Amino acid sequence: MSVPEKLYVEKSVLTHPLTERILGKLPSTPVITVDDYKSIGSSKSLPQKAEEDKNSLALAVNKGGMLKSIGRMEEGEYYLFHEMDCKYDCEYCYLQYYFQTKVPVIFVNRDRALEEMEDVLIAHPKPYFHVGEVSDALAFDPLTGFSTEAAALFARYPNGTIEFRTKSTNVEGLTSIPNPPPNVVPSWTLSPERVARAIEHKTPGLSERLEAARKCQDAGYTVGVRLDPILVFEGWEVEYKTMIEQIFAVLNPSMIDYISLGTPKVHKQLIEVMRKRFPTSPVLLGELFPSPDGKYRYLKFQRIDVYEKTASWIRRFNREVEMKLSLESPEVESMVFGNNPTKRP
Ligand code: SF4
Repeated sequence: MSVPEKLYVEKSVLTHPLTERILGKLPSTPVITVDDYKSIGSSKSLPQKAEEDKNSLALAVNKGGMLKSIGRMEEGEYYLFHEMDCKYDCEYCYLQYYFQTKVPVIFVNRDRALEEMEDVLIAHPKPYFHVGEVSDALAFDPLTGFSTEAAALFARYPNGTIEFRTKSTNVEGLTSIPNPPPNVVPSWTLSPERVARAIEHKTPGLSERLEAARKCQDAGYTVGVRLDPILVFEGWEVEYKTMIEQIFAVLNPSMIDYISLGTPKVHKQLIEVMRKRFPTSPVLLGELFPSPDGKYRYLKFQRIDVYEKTASWIRRFNREVEMKLSLESPEVESMVFGNNPTKRP
């Protein structure tokens, strides 16, 4: 794991056990104490903050809830807020405009996240927890050990599922667990090697991510595969077809939990940030149009074309793996998958 250049620590958590553990793992990283992580870099402009602060890390306390509901509470789908922002720098990432502070933050009182999840696991018949909505799920796992603690919790509650969505290769924690519980699902967002190198800055490349996913399969996990966003550019079909060949050359298809497909969904504020930071980004060069949810997307016919082609390339290798679309309407899903939708219930 790359070491942060600077460590901001809130005064109130200086002696917290997790702070001490992380400081012990980063003995040569300069430490700056702050009253409140929200004040870090507040004088810098947004693009500048995004560039400079990715190499730092903050340790802070989360005074609010660590679980956020996705949709209606009774549906039992949540994402975790035990970390915030990301050390990677993907050009299309909505976190660029979403948080005021651009420094990745680990909330050291994250035991509360485990407690809050346990409450839901007791109360709800089939909850699903996403780790990786507001951070990369495993980017800081070597420092926090969160994945192994969460896996121990889920081993006791087979009714729930936790998914760790990542682009990292930090799987030592997960692969160290003997007989991992089947309701712990690491998932990788994958892009063709050329796309990953061009616009997913600071991330491991495609082959490294696939190798990490394979290690998890070898350790007993089924893994999720996210092809999102699939970008349209000259020659995109060749790039994505090649990537799908690589996926099936490395991963065991019978241990793929699902493959999800998505195209860019870009908020107007993100477009403004991207124009400043990455004016020639291939994400911006595609033809994006406003859609009813306020985000900019490819036109429907083009999205359907992308999904149909990608799904057909996947089906050449495997006819069984479950496929789903990311944030698409039931209409688009039925146009892509016909009468046999493979959407997860
Ligand atoms: S890895 Fe995910 S969370 Fe991190 S910058 Fe990229 S898209 Fe954002």
